[in-house]
Amino acid sequence: MSATATLLPDLARITGARDETYDVRTLQIELVERDRAESFTWRPGQFAMISVFGFGEAALTITNPPDEEGFIEITFREMGKLTSALRRLSTGQIVGVRGPFGNSFPLDEWGGRDIVFVGGGIGMAALHAPLAAVLRERDRFGEVTVVVGAKSASDLVYRGEFDEWQRAGGARLIRAVDPGGEVDGWDGEVGLLPDVFERLGLSGAETVVVVCGPPVMLDFMLKATSRLGTPPARVITTLENRMKCGLGYCGHCSVGRFMVCRDGPVISGEALATLPKEL
Ligand SMILES: Cc1cc2nc3c(=O)[nH]c(=O)nc-3n(C[C@H](O)[C@H](O)[C@H](O)COP(=O)(O)OP(=O)(O)OC[C@H]3O[C@@H](n4cnc5c(N)ncnc54)[C@H](O)[C@@H]3O)c2cc1C
Repeated sequence: MSATATLLPDLARITGARDETYDVRTLQIELVERDRAESFTWRPGQFAMISVFGFGEAALTITNPPDEEGFIEITFREMGKLTSALRRLSTGQIVGVRGPFGNSFPLDEWGGRDIVFVGGGIGMAALHAPLAAVLRERDRFGEVTVVVGAKSASDLVYRGEFDEWQRAGGARLIRAVDPGGEVDGWDGEVGLLPDVFERLGLSGAETVVVVCGPPVMLDFMLKATSRLGTPPARVITTLENRMKCGLGYCGHCSVGRFMVCRDGPVISGEALATLPKEL
């Protein structure tokens, strides 16, 4: 963890912004102080506490891979007070950043294996950094499949990167929308993500399945992977819970003895089964 992981936010400037959908936005952010920026290193799966002064602070995943030095990216859906205020900011304006916090995806354990990333809605934000890291070192892994799903075609995030993932990254891409969410000419899959995943038989005993989406989707994904013979230890997800300190002090995000900010957010299906059913 870097020297910036404290309760005091660092000042950071927004250096880029792009809309992913009508309510999802990606910001590029650079820490203002050069020495803080240089010591801010992270691993795929870690998150930062982002503050908008006068509005509060929220946990947001760092979505770019760690080799992109000097800036971080976050992708957020406009939900409430903080994310609405964040959406109103533009390039040049200042936010607060604390972090990086939490554990990370065990990419070292995935070498040689087929990997399937399954992202539902804004859940794809949590998968963006590990996916980018895997595609950077494509030869180390087996087949890489990305299953991106959303309520409707206009809710699919990172559409602008789909071609790059397939052509430059050598990944297989499957797009899916919920029943009723397809538009005229839609040529992707239609169905709830776990159903699409199971119908296409996308995992087996040796596959790593990396999944993030609404909690109900995770339950169904664990059932689908189990029916396809993928052990829960190879199903990896990230948890969300209300957070305050991010440092494992306040206990706000704890589930039993597990603190999502410190012991998570990345967790396997196997470890998840040992936690109290509070999430
Ligand atoms: C480790 C971690 C990483 C996250 N990464 C991202 C990310 O990359 N992109 C993103 O858009 N969001 C992410 N989130 C969720 C994000 O932190 C919340 O949506 C955010 O706090 C909302 O703040 P707000 O003030 O805009 O909304 P609020 O006004 O606080 O809430 C709006 C609505 O969202 C619900 N809500 C808020 N926070 C949570 C939560 N943590 N879990 C469940 N429901 C919640 C509230 O109950 C309310 O209904 C992450 C959360 C965690 C814990």
